[in-house]
Amino acid sequence: MDNIYFFSGQDRLPKTVDRELLGIRGRQAVEFAELGFPILPGFIIDARLASKLESVDIQRDIKKLLDKCALFVDKKIGDPDNPLLLKIVVSSNLAISNYPTLHNFGLVRSVIDGFARWVGNQFAAHEVLFLVRGMLKIEELLAIAENDTTRLPDVQMQLRNVEGELKQEHPARDALSYMNEYAPYLPLGFFDTAEDQLISALRRISRLLSKDEQNDNDTALMVQPMVYGNYGKDSCSGFFFSRNIVTGEKKLQGEFYREKFNEIGAQGQPIEKIGIDHLKQLEQIAWTLEDRFKEIRQVRFTVEKGKLWLIEQRPVEQKSTQADIKLLLDLASRKVVDEAYIVKAIQPPRLNEILHPVIDFASTKELPKYTGGISGAPGAAIGRVFFSTEALLEAHKVALQKNEDARFILVMPATFADDVKAIEVATGVLSCEGGYSAHASVVARQYGKVSVVAPEMKIRGKKATLGDLSFGEGDYITLNVPYYGEPSVYLGKASLIEPDPKESGLLEYIQICKKFVKHFHVRANADSPRDAALASSFGAEGIGLCRTEHMFFHKDRINVFREMILSDTPAERAAALEKLEPMQRDDFYGIFKAMAGKEVTIRLLDAPLHEFLPHNDEELQAFMAYLEKARGKKPSKSELLARIEALAEFNPMLGHRGCRIAVSYPEIYAMQVRAIFEAAYKLREEKIDVRPEIMVPVVMNASEVKLIIFGKKIEGKNYRGIVEIEEELRNQRGLKPLSYRVGTMIELPAAALGAGEIARYAQFFSFGTNDLTQTTLGISRDDFTSFMPDYTLFDLLEGNPFSTLDPRVKELVALAVERGKMTRPDLVCGLCGEHGANPANVRFCMEAGLDYVSCSSYSVPIALLAVAQAELERTAVKG
Ligand code: PEP
Ligand code: MG
Repeated sequence: MDNIYFFSGQDRLPKTVDRELLGIRGRQAVEFAELGFPILPGFIIDARLASKLESVDIQRDIKKLLDKCALFVDKKIGDPDNPLLLKIVVSSNLAISNYPTLHNFGLVRSVIDGFARWVGNQFAAHEVLFLVRGMLKIEELLAIAENDTTRLPDVQMQLRNVEGELKQEHPARDALSYMNEYAPYLPLGFFDTAEDQLISALRRISRLLSKDEQNDNDTALMVQPMVYGNYGKDSCSGFFFSRNIVTGEKKLQGEFYREKFNEIGAQGQPIEKIGIDHLKQLEQIAWTLEDRFKEIRQVRFTVEKGKLWLIEQRPVEQKSTQADIKLLLDLASRKVVDEAYIVKAIQPPRLNEILHPVIDFASTKELPKYTGGISGAPGAAIGRVFFSTEALLEAHKVALQKNEDARFILVMPATFADDVKAIEVATGVLSCEGGYSAHASVVARQYGKVSVVAPEMKIRGKKATLGDLSFGEGDYITLNVPYYGEPSVYLGKASLIEPDPKESGLLEYIQICKKFVKHFHVRANADSPRDAALASSFGAEGIGLCRTEHMFFHKDRINVFREMILSDTPAERAAALEKLEPMQRDDFYGIFKAMAGKEVTIRLLDAPLHEFLPHNDEELQAFMAYLEKARGKKPSKSELLARIEALAEFNPMLGHRGCRIAVSYPEIYAMQVRAIFEAAYKLREEKIDVRPEIMVPVVMNASEVKLIIFGKKIEGKNYRGIVEIEEELRNQRGLKPLSYRVGTMIELPAAALGAGEIARYAQFFSFGTNDLTQTTLGISRDDFTSFMPDYTLFDLLEGNPFSTLDPRVKELVALAVERGKMTRPDLVCGLCGEHGANPANVRFCMEAGLDYVSCSSYSVPIALLAVAQAELERTAVKG
């Protein structure tokens, strides 16, 4: 008959058949048949006929089709010894269906004993109940559609009964008694003959389809044999993923259940033990599915009397980024897809997961949990809690000495520059002030540590409470900060799965992404040789921001730095700077070397000076002891305290910071500049390609830039600029000049507006969008979370401006690039604020004519992928 189509692994549908008339499930079945998989055969009554079966004689056609099905599964409809049972699938073009699962048609009185001999009495009774439930649901829907209020209550009561029976562990009665009980509520003679049962069911469903308002004449009916994994010896059921969904290893991952219909109450065995022939067949199915869908698939199968049948296959909802990357690399290496395909296939933020340890959820089941707060830096961290940098560093030292667990989590209301050294050794930070661009979050991201900002947390002395959790010094906590969704804090020690960029395929994937990155680059914000090397391995094309202030917080340097800023006389300051210079030189040497052949932008000191001062009496005592040793005489505590007080500021972010420090204390930048060139010339002698770029922070106008780069002579005073300092050092040593660039950060609106003039002196701009956002919107980057929820509530600001560039900030950046390039066409422009890691901002930067973004080393792969994807889109638009 027209409009009914048979399919099997060997029987294709004619090309002329309109696939839209088969519904989603029907189309899928036909597609699999075409792949030559061992799928169950079947037939589809297309959408034109499916709702008209009551008025058409289909008996003969159905009989023929059932005979064809029977040949494949070696059973016969109505056979009392080995009965063929069937399922009916209502196949619409909607993803969600209101229709019940309809199984076991053909199960009638005359075959029930034969069926039970294969599968057991209990299972046979259960299957009768399953059949009855499906049919009663159809009857219920029909009664509703036809507004048959006399029948409906009866049918619904029977449905409740059968559902109650199915909830029991085992059916209470035998199959026959269920048939007798429910027959009166089903089509006449429902349990009399197998073929008639199927046909009457098809007709009832067809009637329902004709009344279904959601059926847009596009719903088909599909009939397929049932197979059972408990059909005697040599039978089993099982499922598997086409590869390991955590590691991505190309090996089936799943279980099978010998002589079981499904996994419920069954003892599973690893899929590789299923036997070599079936394993090979399953692997073949898995690889074909992966190649076809270009993703990991999940497969259900049944083996009945030694014959394997593919029951269902679909996408996998939860799988790791690593697994997807491994699959994509595999597909590309076998040329199933091209490299552009695999670059486009991963959303950049997903790489976060592969760059940080991930939590092993099995280990968190018993741990008390708090969910909420703001994600400062993604990942998972475990450690003992300490409430101050000093306490944490001490505990860390002791742990190392005693060879104990040296994982710690810094818990503080907020962190400051001085706390960087604790964050550096900690695994994570839990703070409560600020948000994504709070100091704790920024530093954590830079060092690849985890950060949660939980405004709800209360810290009192050495105790903290967070929701229902409360923890004290030395207690273990676990932080989990997924890229998507809310962070959680667990009380106790979970376990982690560590990342390995080589093993995970990340490095290979980055190299492929880089092939598409041509005109726009990604640099790293890094301030140690270790970070620089890491960034380089992640594909960074240089360092866009080396924050020099972090280098002064090491314990062997901080007191020298304090000595310098608290000096009474220029001579004392010069002596302290002389001690700092070789330390800085060695830092720069290591960083330049790790980034050989690539630009390294060193930012001269930025942080407000008071951040370096002793914060408590203990630190002051240690500093005084240091001074006494250094100068050979005891310092006056009161004089020191007076000096410390004089350096305090009410609004340090807008105070004595950045180039303003250099205006007042030129010798600080002079020391840094000498250290940069000493390192650079030394490396050049060693034949290493160094490309220094010196950057002046927090400038508001061209005069500041001119002063710092080119110096100024006024009556009685000579301010020596960077150019002069380099020249002097070079001449002293009789060296040939080395090429370098001097530029500035644009992080104040005044600087952006004055970019045209600033570009007369600066060879490059780097947009410090953390400060630029703070100063454009007048929102403190460290305090905005206190009012941000209200702003979000009333829709006053879209998103977090410290993560996604605000339109006004973008306008300033675009304008500054334009004005700057008008003055200096070859002006190099980059962005080094935290925004650099966000793919949405990366696109803006490319469009605004910037040359690169610079972000923390751990964000480099994410930014690179975003750039590669944007480049591919650009080519597609052009092409
Ligand atoms: C900035 O302001 O965007 C920047 C990169 O500098 P910092 O975060 O160190 O102030
Ligand atoms: Mg800044």
